[in-house]
Amino acid sequence: MTPIRPDLDTLPAYVPGRTVAGAIKLASNEVTDPPAPAVLDAVARAAAGGNRYPDMGVGELTGRIAEFQRIEPERVAVGCGSVLLCQQLVQITCLGPDDEVLVAWRSFEAYPIVTQIAGATLRTVPLDDDYRHDLDAMAAAVTDRTRLVFVCSPNNPTGPAVHRDEFVRFMESVPDTLLVALDEAYAEYVTDPDAVTGRPLLDEFPNLVVLRTFSKAYRMAGLRVGYALASPEVTTALRKVAPPFAVNSMAQAGAIAALEHREEILAGCADVVAERDRVAARLRELGFTVPQTQANFVWLPLGERTAEFAAHCAERKVIVRPFAADGVRVTISSAAENDALLDVASSFPAPS
Ligand SMILES: *Cc1c(COP(=O)(O)O)cnc(C)c1O
Repeated sequence: MTPIRPDLDTLPAYVPGRTVAGAIKLASNEVTDPPAPAVLDAVARAAAGGNRYPDMGVGELTGRIAEFQRIEPERVAVGCGSVLLCQQLVQITCLGPDDEVLVAWRSFEAYPIVTQIAGATLRTVPLDDDYRHDLDAMAAAVTDRTRLVFVCSPNNPTGPAVHRDEFVRFMESVPDTLLVALDEAYAEYVTDPDAVTGRPLLDEFPNLVVLRTFSKAYRMAGLRVGYALASPEVTTALRKVAPPFAVNSMAQAGAIAALEHREEILAGCADVVAERDRVAARLRELGFTVPQTQANFVWLPLGERTAEFAAHCAERKVIVRPFAADGVRVTISSAAENDALLDVASSFPAPS
């Protein structure tokens, strides 16, 4: 008998994207290109000082993010990826099982995990028939036990973005004693002019937290940097519960360089967006149901045939991400890799 908390037995295990030698990896919403040369240079220079501890206060990067987002530096909290910031958000709002975290489902698979790690209780509200957040139903599901709500826009893994008008209505209808985290991990891929952007709403709603990451469009998933924009009260609490030195020197230097070169780095998003629309259209032609997507992935709600499709792809060296009996998420990549996916999908028998 080891003294491990028994509730951890029921913790859903994180399923990493599969790696198969020589396979095309479309499972983790990464970009296939390496980080920008300027980022790699900065990381190498920082590595040379790896005998020293990183700046625990993440001072310079925080300042650069504040400048870029036109916000006071004290309203920025940098984290070891936005996933860890999600965990910190639960830690600063929830003390135990009486405190509830509300999410749409299906959404980002980390939300239930970080909720349970903190010993809090998860409440879920189903997505609507278009695989979108049902924010009116979520507002109705808020109780006096709800401490934190995660709204993921665009929603991982289904793709649609929340619209600004519905999000504002949601913020106006929930109590301001509740923290609402708008997770914008895929913001750089959004093209719908009606989609919500959190930053302009922060002054109006002090209980709003905006989460951003360098993992996706900035091509730095392995370096682990994300950040939260919120009230000073919230960011101060986030810093209190952060693991010491969680954002390492290479990550800090790489993110600073990425912001300096963001225009050239983010120029790559336009190709992904064009490919996304091409792949979605072709998959629909092949008979697949593909919800609207504003991210760098598409969702195939294959239900009971989810595992069959994932296996069909894996046998042909294309790795996609199956989610139990719900569906498959496929990352949009380069034209050549997307063509490989379309080729494999076209030989999947009778998708609908
Ligand atoms: C990929 C992703 C993140 C980013 O996580 P990092 O820890 O910053 O790599 C956050 N939220 C969602 C919904 C994601 O899909």
